[in-house]
Amino acid sequence: AATAPLLSVRGLNAWYGEGHVLHGIDFDVAPGEVVTLLGRNGAGKTTTLKSIIGIMRKRTGSVVFDGVETVRMPSRTIARLGIGYCPEERGIFSSLSVEENLLLPPQVRPGGLSVEQIFELFPNLRERLASQGTKLSGGEQQMLAIGRILRTGARLLLLDEPTEGLAPVIVDDIGRTIARLKSEGFTIVLVEQNFRFASRVADRHYVVEQGRVVDMIPNAELDANIDKLHAYLGV
Ligand code: ATP
Repeated sequence: AATAPLLSVRGLNAWYGEGHVLHGIDFDVAPGEVVTLLGRNGAGKTTTLKSIIGIMRKRTGSVVFDGVETVRMPSRTIARLGIGYCPEERGIFSSLSVEENLLLPPQVRPGGLSVEQIFELFPNLRERLASQGTKLSGGEQQMLAIGRILRTGARLLLLDEPTEGLAPVIVDDIGRTIARLKSEGFTIVLVEQNFRFASRVADRHYVVEQGRVVDMIPNAELDANIDKLHAYLGV
C-alpha cells in the first residue's frame, strides 16, 4: 500500500488583493520525496509555496500536513508544525554573522539541528563563521538560508529557486546538499527554473500553469516527455 502523503494540497486558491492567482492547485508529496514545481514565470509556483506556509493571507481549499489541516492557520503556527520556507531572496540577515544568523531562529520544535550539525552539513559555513551575511557568496548565502530552516526542526522544506544566480559548480554543491537532506529523511518541495538541476535532484515534477497543476511527470519519464515539457515551459 502507498504511504500517506506528508503534504496534500487540494483545491488551493489564493489571492493578492483582488487578484485571484491560484485556481485550485492539487498535488501530494510523500514523506522523504523531493518534488519540483515547474512552470513559466507568473504561473503561481512561488504563490503556492507562500500559501502552504501561510504567508498568503487570502487562501481557500485544503493543505494537509502530516494529517493536520493548515489552511486556516497563521504562518507562525504552520512553521511550528515542521514546515520551513526559504524564499527566493533567501531571507538571511546581511548585517549579522553566519553564526548569529544560525542562532537567531528559535528552535521551534524538537529535532532542530544544532549549529554544529549545520556546520557538518555545510563545512564551508564553518570557515565563514564570523563573516557577515553580505560577505558570503551566493552559494554560501543559500546554504545559510537552508541551515536556518533546519535549525527550526522543519521536516518539510519549501525552497524557492535555490540555484538562481549561482555558478554551475555551486549549483552542483546545492544538488549534493539536497541529495544529502533527502537521504536523511527530509521532504522537499522545490520551485526550479534550472531544468537540468531539477532532473538531477527530484523524484517527480509537477507542472503549474495559470494557477493550476496541469501535469505530473515522474523523473524517470522526464526524457520521454521532454517535448511536452518544453511546450509547457515555452522554451
Ligand atoms: P516567477 O518564477 O516569476 O516567480 P511564479 O510561477 O512563481 O513565477 P508567482 O510569483 O506565484 O509566479 O505569481 C503568480 C501570479 O501572481 C502572477 O500573475 C504575478 O503577477 C502575481 N503576483 C505575484 N506577486 C504578486 C504581488 N505581490 N501582488 C500582486 N500580484 C502578484
